[in-house]
Amino acid sequence: MTDHPLRNTPSLDAFWMPFTANRQFKAAPRLLVAAQGMHYTADDGRSVLDGTAGLWCVNAGHGRRGIAAAVERQLATLDFAPTFQMGHPVAFAFAERLAEIAPGGPEAGLDRVFFTNSGSESVDTALKIALAYQRAIGQGTRTRLIGRERGYHGVGFGGISVGGIVSNRRVFPQLPGADHLRHTHDPARNRFVKGQPEHGAELADDLERLVQLHGAETIAACIVEPVAGSTGVLIPPKGYLERLRDICTRHGILLIFDEVISGFGRLGAPFATDFFGVVPDLVTAAKGLTNGTVPMGAVFASRTVHDALMRGPDGIELFHGYTYSGHPIACAAGIATLDIYREEGLLTRAADLSDDWAAAMHDLRGRKRVTDIRTLGLVAGIELESRPDAPGQRAYDVFVDCFARGLLTRVTGDIIALSPPLIVERGQIAEMAAVLGDAIDRAA
Ligand code: PLP
Repeated sequence: MTDHPLRNTPSLDAFWMPFTANRQFKAAPRLLVAAQGMHYTADDGRSVLDGTAGLWCVNAGHGRRGIAAAVERQLATLDFAPTFQMGHPVAFAFAERLAEIAPGGPEAGLDRVFFTNSGSESVDTALKIALAYQRAIGQGTRTRLIGRERGYHGVGFGGISVGGIVSNRRVFPQLPGADHLRHTHDPARNRFVKGQPEHGAELADDLERLVQLHGAETIAACIVEPVAGSTGVLIPPKGYLERLRDICTRHGILLIFDEVISGFGRLGAPFATDFFGVVPDLVTAAKGLTNGTVPMGAVFASRTVHDALMRGPDGIELFHGYTYSGHPIACAAGIATLDIYREEGLLTRAADLSDDWAAAMHDLRGRKRVTDIRTLGLVAGIELESRPDAPGQRAYDVFVDCFARGLLTRVTGDIIALSPPLIVERGQIAEMAAVLGDAIDRAA
């Protein structure tokens, strides 16, 4: 039994925590017991400002009554119904609502929606749809999937194969043939940039190199996060995504944007696809889809991709799906979430705040050992110099210190990432910068 002093706290032993240093955590736990608006309540009663929208997912803030009421209503009406060879109206209604705001607008035609239960499942689903599409159009030799170094696409075998984080890959075998573009992080040329960096569009030509190496006829799809979140907020250089799109088009390679983080208003437009004006063939989503309340993911497929798979012999067109694809409770939560986004203008609110956000974050320049700051929409990555003997420790210390002083941040290596709910007020942005700045000073 873990000896935990807090009353009413269960033993911490049984829950094997994900992506967590379990022994470290259980020795000094950080527990959240309630949440409302921009704040969590910790188990000692302290209020903690949510600088990370939970895990990049609570875009409309916490404790939204409309979502709770919709979930409760749905549970009482239809708790579950299968979507294999059966259907229920809520799933169709939610898909239709999503189609109305689909990435890239009506012209992009990314309005066919496949439901999953998480970002990882959305990624694996998108990769499988890409492979099935290539086969359906007579391009069955295209089985290779291209990702990018420092990419994070969840933890399924597809996702880790195209992902580019060594710790997530080291112990596990990967899909044969997966290969990677170089990442776009180039602090030597792009340090302390607000918005998109000037340098690095040519890094997209790496895809051309892989085409020369493997042959275009072996490549099904290329997947990237428009803004890489989990590896420390890597913002695409100007022109990079456009160039990637162009190379994919020229070589018959499907382009997949993983918008699990960037979707639903994070950058100041509904999707990164809209923000950058570059239209992929498939878009993955999750997180903000239900405001983080009920696990759910989705893949937006272009009509071209979808329709190609509807032309075969009559019968099941895609042998893929989950028991909970289009779960009624998740769909009800999703519809209520979209209502809030629309009523409160949250899918574009980050655009109004992004200048103030960037100014507050870039004010941290000059604090001790801050080597880079990157901002876009309502996202920031603040990079610290690593301690020579303990990479990652300095940012971890900052994270722990911030939490103790009432601010939730997220760290990856020595990079601190902030991505608050899109309801954040200017005063709270200033508060985040102040708490973080002091913690950085203390961790020097
Ligand atoms: N793709 C991206 C870009 C993500 O950031 C994440 C999670 O952070 C995922 C996929 C995986 O999502 P999930 O944890 O819901 O499986």
